[in-house]
Amino acid sequence: MAATMRAFVMKGLDQVGFADKPVPEPGPNDAVVKTTRALVSAWDVHTVNGTIGDRKNLTLGHEAVGVIHKLGSAVKRFKVGERVAVNAITPCYRCDNCQRGYTSQCQEMLGGWKFANIKDGVLADYFHVNDAEANLTVIPESVPDEKAVYTTDMMSRGFMGAEHASVPIGGTVAVFAQSPVGLMATAGSRLLGAGLTIAVESDPQRQELARHFGADTVVDHTQGDPVEKIRELAGADGVDSAIECLGSQEMFEACVRATRPGGSISVVGYFGEGDFVRIPRLDWGVGMSDKTIRSGLCPGGRERMQRLLRLIKRGRVDPSPMTTHEFKFEQVDKAFHLMAAKEDGVIKPLIVFD
Ligand SMILES: [Zn+2]
Repeated sequence: MAATMRAFVMKGLDQVGFADKPVPEPGPNDAVVKTTRALVSAWDVHTVNGTIGDRKNLTLGHEAVGVIHKLGSAVKRFKVGERVAVNAITPCYRCDNCQRGYTSQCQEMLGGWKFANIKDGVLADYFHVNDAEANLTVIPESVPDEKAVYTTDMMSRGFMGAEHASVPIGGTVAVFAQSPVGLMATAGSRLLGAGLTIAVESDPQRQELARHFGADTVVDHTQGDPVEKIRELAGADGVDSAIECLGSQEMFEACVRATRPGGSISVVGYFGEGDFVRIPRLDWGVGMSDKTIRSGLCPGGRERMQRLLRLIKRGRVDPSPMTTHEFKFEQVDKAFHLMAAKEDGVIKPLIVFD
């Protein structure tokens, strides 16, 4: 009989709980990782609420690090027992879209996202990783698991937001919403050399974290039009780059309005409602403003992850102030409900495995 493990699952729509599952086995190119630290994500809450449809007994979670438990026969680059990070997206790196350089869109749109979507996620004692040589990264000795785990989604996605916004050295950036990913977009803008980083946020705790992660100033969008404030701070033309981190029609419009002609608007937020996203026509220069609007999911892969881990190792960024709560795995349901209710000033709950 196969060995069993504990998993935290979506039992069905709006239902979560624990389940016993067999410990996964690797195929020739795969790995199985024993989980040591994980984070609970707002995505897990969306998933349980039905955004990707109904799922039965699907293990949740896509942000985790651990130790290699078993390797497929064709995996030569790694050894059992190594401490590894795995990005939230685990593309195949062989299909047409991967070959074109868009690994988040592996096979099909958003197809790089497999954990807790089309296969079991990482909120379990063990999890399966496809195409291990491309998707595993050894964590440097000096980087603890509780920091490394932020490279798996928050850092990669937030930094992508800044990269896609083509932040010029010394340029001006507005980062809309200081969600965990927004905070990392703020940190990423600073790392890319922004001369003025403006965070847009109303929550005092998140405003403080935004300053900690490199915002020069914070604009509260509930106290008047944030675009007017941004123009006062950055100049009448608007900012070079705007980053949308909430998935809000209102904030997306503000991004287009706040950006100068020829500037870049980068979308990181998840747009979960309605059939269309509207672009303000005049601020878009009636379609001729040379403004770029760019979207993306979460760049993954060994090399990307190594770079993110290098930033932590070198002390360029420390994501751990985003950890507001800590739970043992047997209490992950509490962490999930905290995330769903957005109570107690939760930013990210860290899950600790035995
Ligand atoms: Zn692919």
